[in-house]
Parts: sequence; C-alpha cells; structure tokens
Amino acid sequence: MSGDTIFALSSGGARAAVAVIRVSGPGAENALAQIGGRPPPAPRQAALRRFCAPATGEPIDRGLALWFPGPASATGEDMAEFHVHGGPAVIAALAEALAALPGLRPAEPGEFTRRAFEAGRLDLTEAEGIADLVAAETEAQRRQALGQMEGGLYRLYEGWRGRLMEATAHVEAAIDFSDQELGGDPMAGALPGLAALEAEIAAHLADSRRGERLREGFTIAIVGAPNAGKSSLLNRLAGREAAIVSTRAGTTRDVVEVRLDVAGWPVTLADTAGLRESRDEIESEGVRRALERAASADLSLVVFDGALWPEIDPQSAALLGEDALAVLNKADLLADAPPAAIAGHAARALSCLTGIGIDGLLERLADEITRRYPAGGAPALTRIRHRTAVVECREALARAVAGPADERLAEELRLAARALGRITGRVDVEAVLDLVFRDFCIGK
Ligand code: GDP
Repeated sequence: MSGDTIFALSSGGARAAVAVIRVSGPGAENALAQIGGRPPPAPRQAALRRFCAPATGEPIDRGLALWFPGPASATGEDMAEFHVHGGPAVIAALAEALAALPGLRPAEPGEFTRRAFEAGRLDLTEAEGIADLVAAETEAQRRQALGQMEGGLYRLYEGWRGRLMEATAHVEAAIDFSDQELGGDPMAGALPGLAALEAEIAAHLADSRRGERLREGFTIAIVGAPNAGKSSLLNRLAGREAAIVSTRAGTTRDVVEVRLDVAGWPVTLADTAGLRESRDEIESEGVRRALERAASADLSLVVFDGALWPEIDPQSAALLGEDALAVLNKADLLADAPPAAIAGHAARALSCLTGIGIDGLLERLADEITRRYPAGGAPALTRIRHRTAVVECREALARAVAGPADERLAEELRLAARALGRITGRVDVEAVLDLVFRDFCIGK
C-alpha cells in the first residue's frame, strides 16, 4: 500500500451548503489533529470542531470532523473527513492547509476506490458499480449500478470461477491418479457440470447487450424533410417531465441533442438537418450527418409533414425500415382521419402544435426499448471488458467440454477460470487496473 496520504473534495464542485473533504492514508490522524485539534473524534462519530490552518493558526471554518481508523474504513486505511461550508474559499483554504502537511497530496481520479480495491475491500466490478452509481441519471441505471456495487456480478463470476476450479481439481486428480484406484470416476463427475455451466454462461452473454446499453444509453434520431416539424417534435418531447439534461450546442444545420428519461432508460434524442438535395456545401454536410446519425441510431423517428399529406417525401420514406418509426406530424391540419400507415409502414399521427399524440409516442418509445431490452432477474454485464473476458471463458470451456479428457482439458479449464478472474481482479490485476480506474472522477 502507498505511503502517501491523499485528500480530495469528495462532494460536488458547485457552491453548496456542505462540502466533504476526505483524507486517506497514514497521515489522516495527524491531519485531523493539526487542523481540527485533539483528541480525534470517537471512531465513526461526527464531532463539531473549529478547523484552523496549522501553520498560522488562522481559523478556516467550523464544521464536522469524522475519524475512520483503518482497516474498517472505506479504503482500508486510516481516513478522516472534514464537513465544511461548501464555499470555494473555504474549500481552497482547507485544501491548502492539508497540502502543507507532511506526506499529504491531492488524490488522483479514482484513487480512493483504487486503494479500497488494493486493500481487498471490494473487487473490480464493485468498484465499477460505484463509478456507475455516481454517473447514473435514471432509475434503471441506478438500479443496475447499485446491484453491481453490492456484488451482483462479483458473486456470479466468482461462483462460476469456483465451479471451474473445482472441476479442474477433479480432472487433475483423474489424470494424476489414473493408474490408481480412485473412488468413482472423477472425470465423469466433472463433465456434466461443465456443460451446464457453459449453457449458463451462454445465456448470460445472450442479453442483447442490455447492461452495456443501459450504461451508455439508447439513441434516437429524428429525421425528415425540412419543415416536417423535427425541431418542434424534439422540443415537445424534451418539454415533458422526461427531459433530464439541457440542449447540447449545435446549429440548425447540425445535430442538436437532448437527453430524455424514457421508462428509466437514458435516451439521447437527436434532431438532424432536414433531408433535401442541396447545392449549399454546409447544408449538404448537414444532410450527410443526418443520414449518418439515423444509420447509427438505435431507432429513427421519421417525421412526415401532415400539411402535405397524402403527398409523402420519398427521401424520408426510404428511411423507413425495421429500426424506424413513422410519425405523421401536423395532424391538426388533416381533413380526414389520420392514416394508419405510411408507405406500408405503421405510422403514428400527432401534432406538435396541440400536443395530441405526444404521450402516445413516448409510450411507444418506452415499449420499443423494453421490448428490445427486457429486464431480467440476473445481473447483466455492463462493460465490453466483462464481455471480452466472459467470451474468452466460454470459448475455453467449450473446447474443454468438446475435447478429449486429458491434460489439455485441465489447461482449458484453467484458462476459463483465469478469464473470469480478470473481471473481478483476482488475477492479472495490473493490466486492467488503469483501464478500470481511468473513468473515475477525483474524490472517489
Ligand atoms: P423542421 O424543419 O422539421 O425542424 O420543422 P420545425 O419544427 O421547424 O417546424 C416547421 C414549421 O411547422 C414551423 O412553422 C412550425 O410551427 C410548424 N409546425 C410544427 N409542428 C406543427 C403541428 O403539429 N401543426 C402545425 N399546424 N404546424 C406545425
């Protein structure tokens, strides 16, 4: 473990009533004493203290001091917390006082969690769960992150790894003692369990990438001819309670995005430039991007102009495919009952002007997402890192089950177990650590 003592602002950076500054490492107790006075508060109990700069005795603030002696702390090391008023000058003065103490330095991103991992307080999937929980914007994301932080994936993978190691032991025994009398056939005892395990792992992989997709979000592109009402639709949808993040910058000829919460899923909704042949270079570029965006989105909302109905824009109709929903806007202008289909594709009529049909569209989007990514009871893998390792595990296991019962079988089983161990950080740790903790912010 590192000899350094680290500190960081662990609460949000914005001006707030309270800011929390955490300290972890061998110098934590001294930091508490120097700044908050002696004796340290009783372990894990808040004490009201006056905090002063050790060098000058200048008072900084009055707040709560907490003392978490290791190893029963979040990082496994001695830890201290200063809860102060959340103004920039208070935070800066306290940080300056801490930095002046011997052996103390500001923490790197993710360093607290990394120390917790190194102390064996959590495994890599639980550490990733913490990062995801902090980043979670929607209910479904929060639930998934909490489950992972609480060891859902860890238990799953470690359980599989345990079974693999047990089978390896059986197989090795069968090989080593093949010429001796063993009670029963250890090889025959191991194989059916392995086939069942392979099936479980295959089912885990066949999850339509739900966990990864939930982390990253679902993307929907709004496309259609100029004036069909694409911007109006974006504003209408974003104007609902569903909107969680404000508009991202962009010009009318570029792509404008908003983030929505649809049935607990984070959805990035992108308004694109109108589809139209153009000799204007910038506008052509906008159309090119619109088409690209539609192609890369999970779903396209193809908007048709109800003012022109029954005439339809052929360029838009060409985009109607499996991953597209047809929308007929300006239903308020329709003389007759709205059509059920456009160019043979089921269509929804709505009006961005009156709001009719908007709730129905949101429900339809929620259905579409939950149909594609049904919620399962089992924990889902949430990162490509997990998937790569689980695929590797399954391939080794498949070779083991299909191959002859000899040394190679034991070797494949060891490979399979090793792949799972990399996910939780039980083996080959150095290679994955930087990858995992890179995404953290400072103070975690
Ligand atoms: P975009 O070019 O596809 O982004 O279209 P806009 O959202 O800018 O809308 C084009 C025009 O249609 C604007 O004048 C809107 O006020 C109008 N508009 C949009 N939605 C409706 C609607 O539902 N009914 C009516 N009557 N007009 C609409």
